[in-house]
Formats: sequence, structure tokens, C-alpha cells
Amino acid sequence: MAKIAELPQHLVNKIAAGEVVERPASVVKELLENSLDAGAMRITVDIEDGGKRLIRISDNGSGISFEELTLAFAPHATSKILKEDDLYSIATMGFRGEALASIASVSQVEIISRQADAIEGGRLEISGGHHAEPLPSPSAVGTVISVRNLFFNTPARRKFLRAVNTEMGHITEQFTRIALANPEVHLILTHNGRKVHELPAGQSLRDRLGILFSNPLAQDLIPIERNDREIKITGLIAPPQHARSGSQWQYIFLNGRHIRDRFIGHAIRESYRGLLAPNRQPVVFLFIQLAPDAVDVNVHPAKTEVRFSNSNAVHSEVLAAIRDRLLSTDLSVPVSDQALEPGADSPASVVRPVRTHGQADVAMLPDRETGESKEERQQRVRQAMADFFKGAPPPSSSRPVDGHRPSYRSQTSPVRSHGQEDVAMPPDVREIPVSDPEPPHRYLQVHNTYLVAETENGILIIDQHALHERVIYEQLHRQVSQGALVCQRRLIPETLEVTAKQMAALENAADILKELGILTEPFGPRTIAIQGFPSLLDKVQPAAFLADLLDVLISQSGNVSKEQLLHELLDMMACKAAVKAGDALTDEEICSLLAQRDQVERSSNCPHGRPTTIRLSLDQLEKQFKRT
Ligand code: ADP
Ligand code: MG
Repeated sequence: MAKIAELPQHLVNKIAAGEVVERPASVVKELLENSLDAGAMRITVDIEDGGKRLIRISDNGSGISFEELTLAFAPHATSKILKEDDLYSIATMGFRGEALASIASVSQVEIISRQADAIEGGRLEISGGHHAEPLPSPSAVGTVISVRNLFFNTPARRKFLRAVNTEMGHITEQFTRIALANPEVHLILTHNGRKVHELPAGQSLRDRLGILFSNPLAQDLIPIERNDREIKITGLIAPPQHARSGSQWQYIFLNGRHIRDRFIGHAIRESYRGLLAPNRQPVVFLFIQLAPDAVDVNVHPAKTEVRFSNSNAVHSEVLAAIRDRLLSTDLSVPVSDQALEPGADSPASVVRPVRTHGQADVAMLPDRETGESKEERQQRVRQAMADFFKGAPPPSSSRPVDGHRPSYRSQTSPVRSHGQEDVAMPPDVREIPVSDPEPPHRYLQVHNTYLVAETENGILIIDQHALHERVIYEQLHRQVSQGALVCQRRLIPETLEVTAKQMAALENAADILKELGILTEPFGPRTIAIQGFPSLLDKVQPAAFLADLLDVLISQSGNVSKEQLLHELLDMMACKAAVKAGDALTDEEICSLLAQRDQVERSSNCPHGRPTTIRLSLDQLEKQFKRT
């Protein structure tokens, strides 16, 4: 064994650099944080070759005095912490005093800085940790740090750097995080001399997100706000249709610092439960404010992870903030105006036959000539739509006159649960016998798949399966949260052949089955009898359902929590019990489905997150017909 010796300082720095400086993006992060701590209101980030050749950050912050230039690069040199207490109430981004020392030990750094009251600035060069003497230099107030040839003296680490685009991607990500947390600061990012982003000071968060992500996303974001005594949460959350396949678009900021946190991530997923497909992740931008002493930011070298003194409270506040908002928001997907471009639809899929019978073809009356007001026009369109729905052809005359065959599947498919099997159905137009202003007044089932309903200021197009699935899911969910699903005992038990493995799975899942209202008993070594089945699932075949349920139990065993499994099984139940696309519905079925739409939470999306309803407003229609 060799002799024990203390490491020389430059080696200590290099080792420390391994923790702080992983790649060019980490340098960008540390330097941006320093500029913010220095009170800069305008910061420019110039990058060359993904930061491998140059990272230059210029700010208009407080600057560093000539005397302190060298000190700033000494390890554990910081102006941000003076005494131990400060460590427990950190309000600055940096505090460890190791970033500049670490960066300078693995690159070639030049710093030029000037404080406001100095006549002249100073300039210092450090290469691989070796200082030159600081020299006077002309300089604007503020600091410019140039970091060249990162890892030039640690070839093993330089080899690990990725392609220029990859490194630039990481840099852009760090820039984005800082930009979102500091909307009052003017920020510019360039790469190889070309501007990537310029974000003016004082922009709204939504505008900034429009530039950094996309305008359609930014426009759809929903604001949230929740103010507890200890925890304040604000932010913007995306409606379900913007969900992504990964969680990268979940930005969490704690007291102005971007963090990653498992608990909060869980709360976010949980709050969107039932609104997204299983492999989709919500998009959210959350800003959490906590007293500095309620959180420890000193648990991670890059300070991206933190420790909360009360993580349960943070979890439940985040969950409530998002969930309450999602539940109180109409999430049905508005038709985009692009999707409505005339001619986007093939003739066969247009509701043409009814059109030809419409009593008032509103598109034929140009308002420029009639000179009517917007209100009058809307009123007239409403009336015309009512007439349009009323004026649907009687069954015998449902052939279109313009030669296009209508594609109503109901014309040939039998009517389900209606008593009069094999009766051809006309394109049905029916009136709901209720006077409630909220639910749609008139509706039409098309292609035995969609319901088109008239509302106060437009129309809804509803996917009957998706909506019914959501309705049943919510009913099941309500019953389960009150204990267990209501079970219907069967006079004659249905039986099911099972394998030994299935039998075992069934026994293991006894708890869950009980909650689901499924009663089974062994009925011989390889057979089980189903003695009770949830009453909500009266249209589902118990034996076939149980066989599928066993498949899920076996494929999921051990991999998921009981809570997740239950959720999955409720999902499956809702899907099986719901009417299918292609099912002709009776008046009663349609009425009750539409009525329930208004009573069910989250009716805008099916349990897998697909939309149930598309909204088309009169305004949009008018725009399409070029009437506005
Ligand atoms: P820390 O940020 O943890 O204090 P750093 O090594 O990042 O440590 O910086 C050391 C010190 O250098 C800071 O405490 C600050 O006083 C000074 N400093 C660094 N960057 C700037 C800057 N852009 N403007 C003004 N002062 C700076
Ligand atoms: Mg710092």
C-alpha cells in the first residue's frame, strides 16, 4: 500500500468538477445562476459547437471587483453564505462556492467584469486551474465569462461528450428552465452565431412558453392557483390532448429553482388519472413557493433534488391544485379551424342527405346584404339549425336526392334492444323531452357511432362508446370509493373452467374481487362458479369477463400496486360494459347518455384519455362559412 497523502488542491478541484460539471449544459446552468444571483436583468448565452468550443455568458449584473476576481475562482469562495444559519434559509441559486473553481479547473476561462462604481473593469484568465494575474480592462458594468474547450485537460471526459446537437439540446433545456423561472429577465441564446431564442423581459409565462415550446400548446394551457398557509402553487397545466410519451414536459420550480422530485411527479400523474392513456404523461409547469426553511436544497451537488420537511403536504397540495382545476374545466376538444377547412371531408362522410332537406340553408343568406347584427344572425342560425334537425326526412324518403348514397349504418343494421329487430333505421333525429336548458335539445345518431347534439351556442359531436365508457367508469369508481361495487346475486351461477395458475391468481385476488362485486366459489378442482356479479355490468357476460380479468391478474401480478390494479380492472369493466361503435341506440339510451354527460365528472375524456366530445361553436361555423 502506498503512503497516505493529501491531494493537491488542483486535483481536489478536478474531482469536484466531476460532480458539478458533467457536460457543457452544466456550465451554462451554473453561470446563468451566478448571473441571476448578481441581479442581472439581461443575460446573453453564446454557444459554439454545442458548448464544446465556447460557452460565453454576458450579464449586466453587479459585477466582481478587481480585488476579488481571483478569489471568485478559489474553491469554496462565495459571497452568498457567511454563517451556518444561512445554509438553512438559502435564497440564492448558488452557495457552495465551487462552480467557478470547478469549471476553471477543466477548461480555459476568461472573465471580464466591472462593478458600477469602478472606473475600470478587470480581466483574468485561468487555464486548467492555473491563474494568470488579473489585469485592468475596459468593460461594461456586469460580467462576461468565456469558457473554452471544456475538458481539454481531461481527455477521458472530453471523449464522453456527445454530438453537437445533443449537447446543444441539453443546453437549451437548461436555458429553458432558467427562462421559465425568471420571466422578468431578458434572455438570449445563440448557437454558432445564430439566434436560437430571444425572450424579452416581462413577458407572460404563457408567451414565453409559446416561444420555447409551441404556440398551440401555450394557448391551450389552463392556469392553476392554490394558496395554502405554507404552500403556494401557481402555474399552467395542459389539457389531456397535449400529453406526451415522457415526463420531460413536467417542469417543477421550487422557490424559483428548477427541481426534479419523485413525490411531486407522482402527484402530477395522480391528478391526471383517468384522463390519459396509460403510456401518456401530463404536461405541466408548476411553481411552488415554500418558506426557505421548509426545504433543504443542499442534498445534491447540482441542487436539482431537494428534501422537503413535509413532503406529504406538498404532494397533497399539488394533487389538489391540479385535480380541482381539471375537474372544473370543460376539457372537450374544440375543433381546430384548420380541421374545418372546406373540402377536408370526403362527400360520403358529410351529413348530406339531411342537408338537402333542410328548410333554411343559412349559408345562402349573405349577411353583408341583409346587414343583420351578430346577435340576430346567431339567433337565426340557431333557429335554422333547429329547423334543420326537425326537418330530417321521414324513413321512407331518406334517400338523398343528390345521388350520394348516405352512409348511415343504421339503415341496414338491426336495432339493438329495441324489440323490433331488423327494422331499418332512418338517420334518426329525435327530441329530448326535457326542458332543462343545459343538456342538448336535439340530437342525431350518425354511423351508429357518433351522436351529434345541438346546444345553446353550437353543436357537440360525441363518441358514444367513449362517453358511455366514462359514464360507467365514474359510476364504478363512485361505488368502489364507497366500499365495493353493488353486487347482483345470481340464481343460477355461471361456471368457468380455469387452470391451476388461474385458480391461484383468483385466490390471491380475493380482496380485489370482493371490491369489484364479483363473488366466486370453487366448483370442482378446475371450475369456478360465479355467484355474484356487479349490477352495473348487466350487459356483460360474467364468464367471459372473468376470463379476461384473470389474464390481467396474471400478467400484472407483483408488478403493480393494488390501487393500480383496481383502476385497471375498473377500466376494463367500463370498456366492456359500454355501448360500442356500431351499436344503434334507442331514444332512451341516447337521452340518458346525454343527460349523464352533464352529471359525470371529467365527461370530456374517456378513461383512456381520448376525448369523448368535440365542440363546434356557432362562431366557428360562421367563420367557416365566411360570415364573419
Ligand atoms: P457560488 O455561486 O456558490 O457562490 P461560484 O463559484 O459559482 O459560487 O461563484 C463564486 C462567487 O463569484 C460568487 O459567490 C459571486 O460572488 C461571484 N460571481 C460569480 N459569477 C458572478 C457574476 N456573473 N456576477 C457577479 N458575481 C459573480
Ligand atoms: Mg454559483
